[in-house]
Amino acid sequence: MFETEIANYLNRSGRDGIDLKAVLFDMDGVLFDSMPYHAASWHAVMERHGLHLSREEAYLHEGRTGASTINIVYRRQYGTEAPVDLIDEIYGEKTREFSTYPEPDPMPGADRLLASVVSDGLVPVLVTGSGQRTLLQRLSLAYPGVFQPRYMVTAFDVKHGKPDPEPYLMGLRKAGVQPGEAVVVENAPIGVRAGVAAGVFTIAVNTGPLDAQVLYDAGADLLFPSMSALADAWSELRRALSAVRGRGGDFPPSGGYGRSEA
Ligand code: CA
Repeated sequence: MFETEIANYLNRSGRDGIDLKAVLFDMDGVLFDSMPYHAASWHAVMERHGLHLSREEAYLHEGRTGASTINIVYRRQYGTEAPVDLIDEIYGEKTREFSTYPEPDPMPGADRLLASVVSDGLVPVLVTGSGQRTLLQRLSLAYPGVFQPRYMVTAFDVKHGKPDPEPYLMGLRKAGVQPGEAVVVENAPIGVRAGVAAGVFTIAVNTGPLDAQVLYDAGADLLFPSMSALADAWSELRRALSAVRGRGGDFPPSGGYGRSEA
């Protein structure tokens, strides 16, 4: 299992193998089951301002900066850039709306996957566009001792949000590893694009309502329907990744294979 997906990645990236040293985790929708609250907050607040953003579309924009999401919807309706003060007002309201929801639960399966990553001696790195301090603080409560502050990239660190590769490139730099020495775990199409653009083998976990094809279209190398499914498959995936180390051209060329949705 996974040989085809790994071979496709090596072909597209021109690498000989993946020498896994770090795992780069997105936060919302990967480590916390927080996306339903984000999507509902976006929908409610935008509607209040006469801007139409369905819950499902909110998932398509997940990972963008708040300003970028507001601008896309505003431009679609009015054909012009959203005024900066309106952006600030709407984003402030959205953040407050989100905080009225219950604290999001840790994503089922994430604890098992993180335990495996740590016991494998790999470095877990957080790469989120979020600046929700409450959620960042909860990270150390939900997953004690897993994420070291020096291995965290948040909204406060980057200039360009996802889908720009900058957040993931910064995550690699903080961990001191190359793109071929890591994997990305992402749930959003825009986050997948960022991981792929950073040159990293990108694993999508489809924890929301989107069609899996949307994540493949964004460039996901591998897709799991949940974090639990990824946790279940982790040791096998690790074996498959280490099996290709240095094997370079031994793999058949890509193309003609079906995608296996694990
Ligand atoms: Ca996410």
